[in-house]
Amino acid sequence: MSSIAPNEHSASRAHASDLKATTTQNLYALLAPITVPPTSPRAIFTNWGLAFRCRPLSVFEPETENQCRTVIELARREGVTLRAGAVGHSPSDLACTGGFMIRTDKMNKLLHVDEANGLVTVQPGMTLNALHEHLASHDLALPSVGSISDQSVGGVVVTSTHGSGLHPTAPSNISLSVRSLIIILSSGVQVTCSRDPKEDPDLFLATLCGLGTTGFITQVTFKCEKRFKLKEIAFNMPFDNFVDDFENIATSAEHVRCWYFGQRGVVRVSQCNRTSEPYKAAGSWFRNVFLTYHVVQFMLYIGRFWPQVNTWTARFASWVMKEHTEGVDDSWKIFNVDCRYPQHTTEFALPLSNTPAALRDLRTWFEKEMADPNGIRPHFPFEVRFSEADDVWLSPANGRRTCWVGVAQYKPYSLPVPFQTLFAHFERIMIAHGGRPHWAKFHPFGPNELKETYPMWDKFLDVRKRVDEEGLWVNEYIRRCFGVEGIGAEGAEKGDERNKWRYGEIM
Ligand SMILES: Cc1cc2nc3c(=O)[nH]c(=O)nc-3n(C[C@H](O)[C@H](O)[C@H](O)COP(=O)(O)OP(=O)(O)OC[C@H]3O[C@@H](n4cnc5c(N)ncnc54)[C@H](O)[C@@H]3O)c2cc1C
Repeated sequence: MSSIAPNEHSASRAHASDLKATTTQNLYALLAPITVPPTSPRAIFTNWGLAFRCRPLSVFEPETENQCRTVIELARREGVTLRAGAVGHSPSDLACTGGFMIRTDKMNKLLHVDEANGLVTVQPGMTLNALHEHLASHDLALPSVGSISDQSVGGVVVTSTHGSGLHPTAPSNISLSVRSLIIILSSGVQVTCSRDPKEDPDLFLATLCGLGTTGFITQVTFKCEKRFKLKEIAFNMPFDNFVDDFENIATSAEHVRCWYFGQRGVVRVSQCNRTSEPYKAAGSWFRNVFLTYHVVQFMLYIGRFWPQVNTWTARFASWVMKEHTEGVDDSWKIFNVDCRYPQHTTEFALPLSNTPAALRDLRTWFEKEMADPNGIRPHFPFEVRFSEADDVWLSPANGRRTCWVGVAQYKPYSLPVPFQTLFAHFERIMIAHGGRPHWAKFHPFGPNELKETYPMWDKFLDVRKRVDEEGLWVNEYIRRCFGVEGIGAEGAEKGDERNKWRYGEIM
């Protein structure tokens, strides 16, 4: 028997070898209580944006680590790939599979709180919304979060979900707040990994933003800070002024994020800083709900038939939001914004210094479309956010100070809207300026482009292979991007008529 590495959990090794001695029939029997019936709606995985749907061969809903190990043993035994499926907020086919799926929703417990050191350990299926509540009750908070908190902890960690800000001690990449992870590898053995040299730091840096290809994460320990409030000041400025003073604006507060409304030539800038001022609401129900949700949604609906209306909708939305506003609230409530309609979205991470030129090119292209009576009439706005350079191997901010630029096309009343041509133009401009795609969003990069832009690409693939020689965690997205093959039943996945998903296929 091989020796046990310091970061391996010996009980998990014993359990894994017990499972190896169990018959396949017995594995199915053990898993029966957590197998989703094929007739259940939960046997089909649909992403939140209603762009991708898949029917895995079997879906399991484990609550314990032993059950996860049993699913892994069954998948290996049957030669079927396995993916974790969480809240489905990835706007791509990242989580989709025609193999087995572990739904993580029931792995959602708070496991440990060390208030004095701000260390909190949770299971991966906990949503950020639930995590914020737990943390607040211990006077703690995550240093930064993105636009929403509906995602699961596992989902945000493996995609390096980001907020915004070039703040030295509050990194906008949520994965940077992770202190350690516990992972079940495809061998069934459970390991702890972290930046500690004794705890396989290579595996740690490959797993953060590793898209779930190194193993199934069962525990995440975050380093939190003391609960804090943010004061947000938001105002509009002309596009040219914004681009001319770009880096100063990007660093003008702890967390800066911006929205470019091309139809009015203005940028809305939001500056957020930590504060001890009393709570203060920004805006009213009439503005925040009636106008910017109900009226805008109806106008977007009309825009499906007469795209010119989209221009007026964008102008209207920008006009509604033109005021200088100030608000104070708990950090996560200020970080989050209302993302109310399912949407197609894509986003690129540009080197910060390339961004003004990229935005100018975006504006030039946009104005050309607007001048053409048959040109594209996009929804609004382009979102602009910031991240400090980091060391997570596949983080789009790896090694470079980053500006994220994103685009969305909303689906009013969940109805389909055109987006492919717009996104193709957008991608062309972003790629020309050195953009790296957001991993969770649909993008055109394959192994060659990725190898060129990620200095740690080969090392990442080596570590992935070390911990998953057979390709247990490979799905169509991973095959397309990483150029790796999955364990045996991939052929079945490829050929299965039920699982022919393409971008935007279902809506
Ligand atoms: C409205 C909206 C707003 C968004 N805002 C932002 C934003 O501000 N910033 C940003 O960067 N992104 C943003 N995103 C993207 C989102 O944060 C990511 O797609 C995130 O991964 C979604 O998490 P999820 O829990 O829905 O995971 P899913 O989409 O279900 O899965 C994502 C990936 O996580 C893997 N995974 C999940 N759990 C585990 C586990 N336990 N072990 C191993 N792998 C696991 C899955 O296999 C899959 O590869 C947004 C998306 C939407 C729809």
